[in-house]
Amino acid sequence: MNAMTDPARSAHIPFSFELYPPRNDAAVTALQATIDHLAAAGPEFISVTYGASGSSRTSSLDVLRYILHATRIEPMAHLTCVGSSHDEAHALVREFLDAGVRHFLALRGDPPLGFSEADDFLGDLRSAGELVQLIHRVQAEHEPYRELLIPGLPGAREVRTERPKVRVAVAAFPNGHPRSRSTSQDIDTLLAKQAAGANLAITQLFFHADHYLSFIQRAQEAGVEFPILPGIMPVTSPGRLRRILQLSGEELPSELSIQLEIEPTAQGQRDIGVAYAVELAQKLIAGGAPGLHLYAFNQHQTVLSVLDGCGLLTSHAQPREKELA
Ligand code: FAD
Repeated sequence: MNAMTDPARSAHIPFSFELYPPRNDAAVTALQATIDHLAAAGPEFISVTYGASGSSRTSSLDVLRYILHATRIEPMAHLTCVGSSHDEAHALVREFLDAGVRHFLALRGDPPLGFSEADDFLGDLRSAGELVQLIHRVQAEHEPYRELLIPGLPGAREVRTERPKVRVAVAAFPNGHPRSRSTSQDIDTLLAKQAAGANLAITQLFFHADHYLSFIQRAQEAGVEFPILPGIMPVTSPGRLRRILQLSGEELPSELSIQLEIEPTAQGQRDIGVAYAVELAQKLIAGGAPGLHLYAFNQHQTVLSVLDGCGLLTSHAQPREKELA
């Protein structure tokens, strides 16, 4: 029996969303309304992207604070280290921990146009794995122990040395990182991130379930033990599809592309994009994906339609208590 024929498994698949920080003041209010809708669906977490070279440091943190204080959902902060000195990266992680963030997606990030991989611009941390290690180290300094109130003994506190778990996720690339030389390099990179302390991965978007499922199988055979969440992007217009392919370097999904190109109405294109994402998600769940991570493009309707199409909304309709991994 698979998840498509087993509603019980399908109903318990966790999901999460990804947002980007608003680009102007008008977008702030709209994004907060989007977050409220997404939070009501009960995701595991909502992640917030981080602009290249720290360009969105303040606006990303503002969105994370909103999720922390206005919802019961855990926020996950994307952080990049490219171009940072060791001290700058340390201060950055500390700032996010001070704000109350406990979930991170540690990324190396891309050098700005005109800088090569070999350039000194890359900074002190050369890979996402080094940022994973740094996050764990700063967290250990930040909270070396916990104090718990002892019931019945006013003012007394018990000291616990085990620290609350920090979730440190990393990126994975089912179809290869654009600069990777071979699939085995992508798997080796993932193993290096695991050795550094990563405990979750989220994939780059892809359009065919087989690409994800065969990547997962190879990663597990090589010794990757943490869950790898598939990143799903519902694509609802031909223009957006072209932009996404340019940015990600993914191959054109010809079937989806033709359907979007010949459909004249925006509503029809949206329906095509949702239906494609629903079918993809169902195949992933059936193949054993541990959850779904949906790229929301700062709008709630499309991703919630995808979850609804997969039968995942009803059991998650109530926001859950915040809990750490
Ligand atoms: P790394 O894992 O460090 O890898 C970079 C390159 O070096 C790869 O080619 C890798 O194969 C190679 N490499 C690294 N370590 C090793 C090793 N030990 N052995 C062999 N090869 C190695 N970018 C942003 O700027 N902001 C964001 O918010 C953001 N969010 C993202 C979210 C997701 C889910 C994904 C998939 C990507 C995101 N990115 C984001 C893009 C990301 O920053 C780029 O893809 C970047 O080029 C690589 O980052 P990385 O963390 O995968 O780097």
